[in-house]
Parts: sequence; C-alpha cells; structure tokens
Amino acid sequence: MLRRLVLAIAFLSLAACATTPPPSVDRPPPAPLPVILVSIDGFRPDYLDRGVTPHLSRLAAEGVRGVIRPAFPSKTFPNHYTLVTGLRPDRHGIVENTFEDPEIPGETFRMSNRKAVGDRKWWDQGAPIWVTAERAGVVTAPVYWPGSEAEIRGVRPTHWRAFQMSRPNDARVDDLLALLDLPPARRPRFLTLYFDTVDTAGHRFGPAAPETVAAVAEIDTQVGRLAAGLKARGLAANLVVVSDHGMAPLAEDRRIFMDDILPRSAWRTLAAGAFMTIYPAEGRTAEVEAALLKPHTHMACWRKAEIPARFRYGRNPRVAPIFCLPETGWSLTTRDYRPSWSERGNHGFDPESPEMAAVFVAGGPAFRRGVVLPAFDNVSVYPLLARLLGVTPEPNEGDIRDVAAALTR
Ligand code: AMP
Ligand code: ZN
Ligand code: ZN
Repeated sequence: MLRRLVLAIAFLSLAACATTPPPSVDRPPPAPLPVILVSIDGFRPDYLDRGVTPHLSRLAAEGVRGVIRPAFPSKTFPNHYTLVTGLRPDRHGIVENTFEDPEIPGETFRMSNRKAVGDRKWWDQGAPIWVTAERAGVVTAPVYWPGSEAEIRGVRPTHWRAFQMSRPNDARVDDLLALLDLPPARRPRFLTLYFDTVDTAGHRFGPAAPETVAAVAEIDTQVGRLAAGLKARGLAANLVVVSDHGMAPLAEDRRIFMDDILPRSAWRTLAAGAFMTIYPAEGRTAEVEAALLKPHTHMACWRKAEIPARFRYGRNPRVAPIFCLPETGWSLTTRDYRPSWSERGNHGFDPESPEMAAVFVAGGPAFRRGVVLPAFDNVSVYPLLARLLGVTPEPNEGDIRDVAAALTR
C-alpha cells in the first residue's frame, strides 16, 4: 500500500515536472511523419463539386484545396514526372507518353513498353524525389508512379511494383497500408498511390457523363479506405492528393484529318489526338512545313524551336520536329484511324485551358485548415514534397512560395 502511495507521489511530481519541458536537446526529435502522394489520373478540380466525394471534400475542408496547372503536354507520363522532379518535360526528358531520342536510335519510349519504362536512360535527365530521399536515408515506396520501375541515376526505391492496370483499387490501397505495417527499418516514409479509373472513364464517356461521376465516387471511397486504414493504425500522415491533368469533352464534328492536309507518305507520327507529333519523311521536310506551318482553323503547327514560349517546350532533342496543337476539345486524326471505341474525352491540350486544370488537395499535421490556394503550376508540388520529407530539393522549376500559405510552418 505504502509502496503504491510512494509511486503515486513520484508519478505526480514527475507529471508536475513535465509542465516545465526539459531543454529540447534532451528530447529526441518527433518521428517524421509519412508523406503519402496520391495521384487520381485525369481528376478535374470541379469533380469535387459533383456531390459524390465526401472523403476528398472533408480532406479539403479540413486541410488545403487548390488547382494546379499541368505542364505541357498535358499527358500522363510527362506530368507525373514533373510532379516528382519539379522540372517541366523539356528539362526532365519524358517529353510525351510516346517519343524517340536521336541519341537512342532504333528505340521508342512507350508507357506500355515494360522494358522502356524500366530503363533509366529515358529517365536520367530528372532526379525524382524518391532518388533524393533514398540518398538521404529515407525509405520510399513510389508504387506505380511513372519512373519507379527504373534505377534512375543508379538509385532504385526500396519498394516498387511493376505497373498492373488490372490491379483492383482496393488492393492498391491495401498494398500501401501493408507497407506501413512493415518493421520500422523497412517501413517507407514516402509512399504513392495511383488510380487510373477516373481517367479511363473520362476518355470513354466524357467528363460530364454519369459513368465518370461513378468513377469519381469509387475513388473517393478508396480515399476513405486509406484514411480509415491510417486511423485504425493510429498513424498520422501528410497526405497530398493530385491529378496529372483534367479532361475535355470531344465531339465527332471537331476532328481534323491530317491526311487531308498532307499525303500520308510525307510524314509519320508517334502521338495523335489532343495534339500530333510530326516526323517528316526523308527529304520531305520542306513539303511538310509548307503544308503545316501556314495558318489553319482550329489548329496551329510549329517547328519545335518556334513553339510559343509559354509552353516551355521544344529545346529537348526528344521533342518531335513539328508539333501541331488543336483548339481544346478538337482532335487531330487520320482517315485510316479506326478505333474500337469512340473517345468522348481527352487531354494533352493547352494547359491554360480550364478543362486541363488538375486537382490539389492536402491534409495532415503539416497543413493549415481550410486553405484555398490560388492556382499554381504543378512544378511546385516537388519543393512541397521535399519540405514535407525534410530533404534538400534538387535544382528545379517550382517555387515553395506557391504553397507556403498552406503550411503550418
Ligand atoms: P494517358 O494516355 O495519358 O491518359 O495515360 C493514362 C494511362 O497511363 C493509364 O490508363 C495507365 O494505363 C497508364 N499508366 C499510368 N501509370 C503507368 C505506369 N506506371 N506504367 C505504365 N502505364 C501507366
Ligand atoms: Zn493522366
Ligand atoms: Zn488519359
């Protein structure tokens, strides 16, 4: 009994001491929180206003909401790499989803080509956040993020997986939570989660279609599962939810047939739709330029060196010799193109057009509550990630001041 009393007094006096904190040098620094970067491919900011996103809307209300401008071209691979390098495609070298490099003759980079996607030579012009973090001793898991399958600049993330589009969304969330259950030495502090469902529905049915709204609702449910999984583990984390680009509606009567302008034998292309990359055939450059570089209705074409400065695109040797961009919502195609299904939505257009805007939502202890940020370029997500992880960012084109108002310190 006496022993208990003594213990109780000792505890009380300790508790009293605790009101005057010891010098901070005596305390271990607080364990750094995990940073979870979620990409919802093709998610437009206005999808948050469709009444089907309780979890994302709560995260935004209790944290930060904003609109990010994608880099040009507003496609998946270029923009995912921009988000994690702070460099625009002209500088990080992933200039399109499909491209060639004159210094790598005979090969084509395609996002569907496993070998290319995992080959560092395509990625080494940039240094993604996980490379910098791993070098600083941070365990990372950029699962399904473009570039994560390659040993970029000689560094492989501790955890990664070969991209598998068929992997159900539930399983993707469970994979992330399982990584957080690993023993501390293997447990990642930087993790990514990627969903393609909303982009796929947007392409097939268009941004306003009920099928796309259903896809938005499905991904919101997954964000809810992620939050519940963190809560069940008693884990605090800083969550950054982004998309890579938006989605514009297409129409059958807004198509330009490029083979009506130019004979098919004079050129080839690696990308069509929201823009077209043009490679003149041997000896046909003058003819191709004469046909394309003049004014057209609903479309402009430029030599790579003459692409308007605001696109910040055209210096990289990987950019096609001629680039044609239609008005947003128009398609560049050819008479012989016979898709198995008709596309109702697309992206890749001018990043300044409102339909191409991407979403930004963030929450967690590092973020203030109820902040709405003015629109900013997606290059600034990179310095934010570096700040959250406590690593020194590589030289980049972003600006931490774009997001400073969102941070508690
Ligand atoms: P986009 O054509 O620009 O709309 O690209 C979207 C597609 O990119 C998705 O439907 C996925 O199939 C594909 N994708 C996304 N991430 C990866 C990845 N890490 N590896 C291969 N393909 C990917
Ligand atoms: Zn995308
Ligand atoms: Zn897409």
